[in-house]
Parts: sequence; C-alpha cells; structure tokens
Amino acid sequence: MFTKAKTTVNKTTASSSTIDAAELTSRIEYHLQFTLGDIADEKETKSAYWQATSLALQDIIVNKLKATKARQFSSDAKSVNYLSLEYLMGRLLSNNLHNINLYEITDKALKGLGFELADLCEQGPDLALGNGGLGRLAACFLDSLATLDYNAMGYGIHYQHGLFKQAFADGHQIETPDMWREFGNPWEVCRPESAQAIKLYGEVEQVVQANGSVKSIWHAGNAFRGVPWDIPIVGYQSDTVNTLRLWECRADNAFDWDKFNDGDYLHALEDQVQAESVSKVLYPNDEHDAGKELRFIQQYFFCACSVKDIIARFEAKHGKLNLAKNIVLLADKVAIQLNDTHPTLAILEFMRVLLDEYEMTWNEAWNLAGKVFAYTNHTLLPEALEKWSVALFDKVLPRHLTILYAINEAFLNNDVAAKWPNDEAMRARLSLIEEGEQRTVRMAHLCVVTAHKVNGVAQVHSDLVKSDLFPEFNALWPNKLTNVTNGITPRRWLKACNPLLSKLLSKTIKEDWAKDLNSLKQLSALADDNNFQQQFMDIKLQNKILLTKEIKALTGITVSPEAIFDVQIKRLHEYKRQHLNLLHILALYRRLLENPELDMHPRVFIFGAKAAPGYKLAKAIIYATNKIAEKINNDPRINDKLKVVFLPNYRVSLAEKIIPAADVSEQISTAGKEASGTGNMKLALNGAVTIGTLDGANIEIAEEVGSDNIFIFGLTVDEVKALDNKGYNSQHYYETNSEIKACLDWLDTDYFTPGHEGELSTLKHSFLDGGDPYKVLADFQSYSDAHFALGKAYQNKAQWARMAILNTAMMGKFNSDRSIEDYVDNIWHLTKS
Ligand SMILES: *Cc1c(COP(=O)(O)O)cnc(C)c1O
Repeated sequence: MFTKAKTTVNKTTASSSTIDAAELTSRIEYHLQFTLGDIADEKETKSAYWQATSLALQDIIVNKLKATKARQFSSDAKSVNYLSLEYLMGRLLSNNLHNINLYEITDKALKGLGFELADLCEQGPDLALGNGGLGRLAACFLDSLATLDYNAMGYGIHYQHGLFKQAFADGHQIETPDMWREFGNPWEVCRPESAQAIKLYGEVEQVVQANGSVKSIWHAGNAFRGVPWDIPIVGYQSDTVNTLRLWECRADNAFDWDKFNDGDYLHALEDQVQAESVSKVLYPNDEHDAGKELRFIQQYFFCACSVKDIIARFEAKHGKLNLAKNIVLLADKVAIQLNDTHPTLAILEFMRVLLDEYEMTWNEAWNLAGKVFAYTNHTLLPEALEKWSVALFDKVLPRHLTILYAINEAFLNNDVAAKWPNDEAMRARLSLIEEGEQRTVRMAHLCVVTAHKVNGVAQVHSDLVKSDLFPEFNALWPNKLTNVTNGITPRRWLKACNPLLSKLLSKTIKEDWAKDLNSLKQLSALADDNNFQQQFMDIKLQNKILLTKEIKALTGITVSPEAIFDVQIKRLHEYKRQHLNLLHILALYRRLLENPELDMHPRVFIFGAKAAPGYKLAKAIIYATNKIAEKINNDPRINDKLKVVFLPNYRVSLAEKIIPAADVSEQISTAGKEASGTGNMKLALNGAVTIGTLDGANIEIAEEVGSDNIFIFGLTVDEVKALDNKGYNSQHYYETNSEIKACLDWLDTDYFTPGHEGELSTLKHSFLDGGDPYKVLADFQSYSDAHFALGKAYQNKAQWARMAILNTAMMGKFNSDRSIEDYVDNIWHLTKS
C-alpha cells in the first residue's frame, strides 16, 4: 500500500522556503522506507507517519541549525547560556512546523498521503523534562531567543524518564514512569565528539610550591562521562535555529573486564549502573528541596559538563583560554543565566576550572565569575530554598568546598565587615554557611554574592525579594536585585494551540501578531462590536465542544459546552490553593441542594494537576476532589448545574487543549506566595477571564486589562503579613461562617465516600488543627463573593464577550519576547546575530 520513495531526494540543499508539498511528500516517504524500514504492522501506521514527518522536518531544521552555527561563529556575537535542570518542552512537531512556516505545506502533503496533520501531531510524546512553571519558562525563553535571533544555548539533563505519568485509581493518584524516548526521539542528535569527563569524590591535597604559594590538587574518585544530545530550537519566522544541549551520564569505563573475566558478571556492570542512575530520572518535586545525594550529583554533573562545554566553545573561536591573551574577552562573549539555584554549582566549577586547570589568580577568576553569572530567583517559600549539607559537599566535591570557604571568607571579611563592622549577627545571617546541628550551604546566598544581577520574575515578587528575602544584600549592593516579569511564547500558546482564534486574529490585525503581540491592542476597538463579539465567542464555543469530547474520552463524564468552563490547571500545591476552589464547590453544591432552582448559570469546574509523589496533603486534595466530583456529577437533584472534572496527567499537550476552551482562569494563590505564574498569562491570552488574588503576575495582568475585566479578591500581601503578625486563627472562620462550618463538617461524614467515614477528614483538619497555613478560610468569603459577581457577569453575554476580548487584546506585555529583551537590555547585553 505504500508508494516507494523516489530515490532522488536532495537532503542537503533545499531550504524551507523552496520546499513544496511534492518535495515534502517524497522526503516523508524516503524516511518511511529507509529510516524506518517500512511499516510492519498497519496499526502502527499513524505513529510511523508521525515519525517520518518529524524526521523529514528535522532534516530541514538541522540544515538551518548548521547555517546558524556558522553565522554565529563568524559574527562572534555574545552568547547567553541558559542553565536549567528543567525544560518542559511539550510536543515539537506542530510548533516546529509553525515556526519554520511549513505547517500548511505539510498539511497538504499529508492529505495527499491520506492523513490529517493535526491528527499526526497528537502522536508524539511530550518532552516532559520539567515539573511545572519553571521548566515551561525555560522552554518559552528558548523559543523567544531563537525568534529574536540571539545566540543562545540551553543546557539541561537528558533524563531517561521525565515527569511521571499520572492516572487515577478509585480517585487516588497513581504514578507510572514516563517513557518518552523508549523507541528513540526524532528531534535529537547525539554529539559524542563533545562528550565531557567529570570527576567526583576523593580528597584534596595541599601542595606548597617553590614560590611558597599553596596549590590545591584534587585526587578524585569516580569518573563519569557526559554525552550531549542536541535538540534544535526553531525560531519563529527568523533566521535562527539554536540548540538545547542535554547531558546524558555514562560510565567512564563501560565495563570492568577483570571482574567479567573472573566470572563476576553483575559487579562488572556496577560502574555503568551507577553512572546511568545520575541522568535516570527527573526529581518530581516542585518548589520543594528534598536534599537527596543523587540530586546533588545530578546538579554537579550537569553544571560541570555545561561549564566545560561553554569554555570549549569559547576556545574554538578564540584559542586556549589564557590570562595574558584573551581572558578579558570571556566576559564580553559569554553570559551564564542560572534558572533558580539548581545550577549554582556551576559557579564553583567555573572557579575550580579557572584556578586549577588554567592556573588563574583568585582575583581574575572571581572577577570573571561576577561578570559572567546572573541568577533568577523563583520562589520565597522556605522549603524551596536549597541548602546542601557541608558534609555532603565534603564527601562529593571536596575541592569545591575549599573554594566555597574562600569565597565566604572574602565576602564576610571584605564586603560585610566594611558595611557592618564587628557585627557577628550580620555575619551569621549573611554567611554562605548556616551553622547549626547540621552545617549547610545556602545556595541562594552563593548566587547573590557571585552574580552581577539577581532577578525576581514579577514586580511584586522582585519587591519581596528585596524587602523580605535579601534586604541586607540589597543594602550592600543596591543595583544588583532587579525584576524581569515572566512571559509566554504566543507561538505555542495561541498560534499553534488555538487555530480558530489565530485565524480570526490574522484576519483582523495587519501585523504578524505572533511576532508583535502588542498589536493585539487593536482588538480593543472591536470589544463592543456585536459582530466581532459573536465571532470571538463562537470560536470559544467551538473550542469548548472539542474539549467536551476530550473530557468524555478521558473521564467518561458528559459536560455541556453551554456551561461556564472554570479552569484551574497547575501543579498541586497548598499555596496554589486548589482546596479553596474545592471548598467553594462544596458550598455551591450545598446551595443547590437547598434550592435546586437557584439562579445560577451551569458550571463545569475543570482541574489538572500532578502532586509530588511524597506530598501527602496534595494527594489527599486530589483524592477529595475526585470523590466530591463523583458524587456531584451523579446527583440528579441539581439538574446538571454543577460538574467537576479532574483531567488526569496534566502536561503541556493537555494544557494546549484546555486553555483555548476556558472561560474562567483560577489564579487563587495566597498573596505573596506565587512568584509570577505563567498559566495565568496563557489563559488570559486565549480569552479567559481571571478570578485571582493580588499575587505574582496577576497584579500586572490586572493593570493591563483594567479592574473591570478581572475578578480580584482576597487578602493583599500587606494584609497577609498583618494577619500573621496578629496571629492567624483559622478556627475563628469555622466558628463564625456557618457555610464554612457546614462544608468542613461534611468532610467528616461518609457522604462522599460511602461506607468510609472520615476518609476526607485530613482535609478538614489541615484547615483547623493544621492551622491553615495558606489562609484558605480567611479568603473564602471574599472568593465566594467574587464568584457570585462573575456568575452575574456571565449572564450578560455582551459584557462577558467584551471582557474576554479585552483579555486577549491586552496581553502584549506577557510575550516572552518582551521578557527576553528585558534580560538582554539589563543583564546579558547581547547583540543580535
Ligand atoms: C504553564 C504551565 C505550568 C505553570 O502553570 P502555573 O499556573 O503558572 O503554575 C505548569 N505546567 C504546565 C504543563 C504548563 O504548561
């Protein structure tokens, strides 16, 4: 049934602009026949065509990558090296096709072969090498850097298993391993020629040299090999394809032949097993530092490979790094951005390499480090601030510990002593070492002391970094702490995921809005236009109908597209307060049971969230939501006015289906806890109206869309602080708000878990005995009132359409292209290449 490929495929010269559907067809058939060796099983045809299409596209992309590299090499423009332990890339086929402008042509080619491109795009696995917002931010930034023609390299880990897959069994979260590249990955190229050797453990010897100075020599124990896998990053309508370089860990010696020859087969493989464990799996904790030795080794492995690779790339152009010759150039050519403290060890490795391998002076190396490194802070939550024990450092990285001590000594004796002479308390507070039963290294302090710039990720967060997290550092270096508000790429989060709205926008707006998102402001003039409102809301309805089918397929639940689709999608965490949403759902359910004729537009509450496997309360919230959903969805008394859907396995590709269909965006974190959020931006861009607290980027979203087009509720950052100072008493709200009391007491019964009384009591107790640390009860009434106002607003169709349109119109600021230009202007100082 498969036409044989024409043998004259020109794989090297055709650029994307000269490729037509016929050429693409023959390239797809070539890969089907020769790379995949034809298809054995007809059931596999879709997957094979996905693979062949991806490979055909990858050929074109790799060509453009080669051209980009040559151009960047000769222009010698400064590069930014983005170091991140996480990249939440999602699927690549659809986005790569849109960015390289081959979507329509490929669609045509595949139609000729009997396939729908949109359908094939659903075949590939998500690249889920991240937990949540932090990893997705890294992915959006790579898209923008390539789109804006900057010389950029992303560095990360080639995890064998990304974030776990989630399923529900009787309402409980079940985790299974993510097998994203079990049968290969068409988007990656292995580069063994750029492998790096990495050492660990051992001890440090101090040798007195002829001139009297002391040299530290590290006699390391284990050795690993880092093998890079490169994934091309295609810019949108640009000349640039950059690289995401992911390190895989292998043993330095694959095999111990002596042991093997002695018949000790299992032990012969030990080194290999140990090495492979380093890049085996992504740690599934979001905003929580679990402090495991393997994670520490993962971080070091990744940092050491990346630092060596960055220097090797510099030397390829400028010759061997040399104090007298080219050392000053390094800071003009290289910026390294640390995405949170996870890659902090890159600082110590950078120092070690310059000191020990290039024999630079301390001052030279330290000056360079300060110019090269910058650090992004992502959280104020104490449980997320990384601290590694000094004992672990001493065991795994003894040489790096001596460098850390030297940095600390210089910092305390020079900077701190000059500003606060003889202030022991200040020394203890700012030291890189936290004293105590177990001495630990404060990774964020090392970043702040080293970096020339430290940024928060939304204005309110950056202000809190200055005032609450690092006030002393801000006093010491007043220009170091700064803000870069996060953004999202409009290519993935509108152009590719919402084709119907994209078409309407392209018809309405002259400019290429996906490149210049501020041009969407032109929609404001149409916000009251009856005809435009109708088109806009009809697209929303079409997207809701599509999601309705997805919901049916994934959960078996039937929902009406006429209902309000109210969406909360993000990692499950107490500070994000999915349990506030749930408590309000219980309240609505009670109100409906008391009065089934209640004037309320039907609502579907849609959740998507993974809980870290060890996070008990987060899992209890998932279980409670599923059990409450089961009861509500099957209760005939409430006339389908309320439905609750928890979609399993939330990830980028599922987000792309939910977001275009959302009417309401739930952004309800306790004020001061969500650094920025980016889900809030994606939803608003697709015409969802936010109900949210004055937290993170919600504040800036409110500024952009105006207070009439967002539902703000709850305590402000200052009010939360005041309440904490007064002493928060959650019991008070339970005793004085009868609806809260009734809903919480409900959880003690077996109403939602027939025959299993008290299964949901943990949740009630977290609010009461547990002290309700995220102030759910304090914000409940205000949240409930905001929802009431929102429900009323929805009943006025013209008013709602206006609000939805204005949300799309005013999201220009949250383009990640703008974030990148802010980094370029204030931190990296790159020129286009
Ligand atoms: C955008 C995104 C996030 C971040 O969502 P927040 O609401 O900002 O926490 C997490 N996971 C996925 C899959 C995303 O696409």
